Amino acid sequence: MRMIMLGAPGAGKGTQTERLAKHFGIPTISTGEIFRSNIKQGTELGVKVKAIIERGELVPDSLTCALVEDRISQPDCEKGYILDGFPRTIPQAVALDEMLAKRGHKLDYAANVDVPDEVIVERMAGRRICPSCGDSYHLIYHPPVKDGICDRCGAALAQRPDDAPETVLNRLSVYHRETQPLIDYYEKSGRVVTVDGTQPIDAVTANLVIALT
Ligand code: ADP
Ligand code: ADP
Ligand code: ZN
Repeated sequence: MRMIMLGAPGAGKGTQTERLAKHFGIPTISTGEIFRSNIKQGTELGVKVKAIIERGELVPDSLTCALVEDRISQPDCEKGYILDGFPRTIPQAVALDEMLAKRGHKLDYAANVDVPDEVIVERMAGRRICPSCGDSYHLIYHPPVKDGICDRCGAALAQRPDDAPETVLNRLSVYHRETQPLIDYYEKSGRVVTVDGTQPIDAVTANLVIALT
């Protein structure tokens, strides 16, 4: 199975992607997570994208597409994968279609996690992430067992610099301008599965699994 996750920043794409990947036994590819880990390690890519991401803007399509093409060419992606946070622009979606066609593959689904803007602001304010393994928590809706500590790896949780309220508003406007049009793009080929992302985390997962099976 090959699928993408669409939805506003903070809609729950990352949270659901992890769960679906476990359920379907396929890898996840999160462009945001790849960028964050490069920033943390201070790689050439990390240095290039740090300021862009902290402003809440999008990394250039050419850079992002090259990174994704390289990743989906790895052997563990042969059986399929879930793309979280890619594509985010129409040119990225066109590029993905080309990457798939070149390999004789097709995209099975575009899952759209639907959450209104008012809810997003609260999601971002309470989001804490693990800088070490990338796990995502929420102070109220998905707290770790031990305050401030990652359940999965024990590292200290942190707030993402781009989750600052001013940046969140910019990211939302970038989402509406650049990414939301992808819903129509995928709707044309009948690949969109929309779920109500305001439901509790487990309910969203259950609805996705039903819709995707
Ligand atoms: P969120 O899950 O909150 O939507 P992500 O972790 O997916 O955020 O992405 C964080 C940031 O990384 C984005 O705001 C953007 O700057 C950059 N980024 C991630 N994916 C892409 C992409 N496909 N194209 C361009 N920039 C991206
Ligand atoms: P995205 O990858 O779309 O940016 P995340 O998966 O990181 O979103 O989720 C954003 C924040 O909202 C996190 O703090 C996460 O724990 C929380 N969250 C995710 N799904 C839900 C949900 N269904 N209900 C309440 N909080 C949620
Ligand atoms: Zn961790």
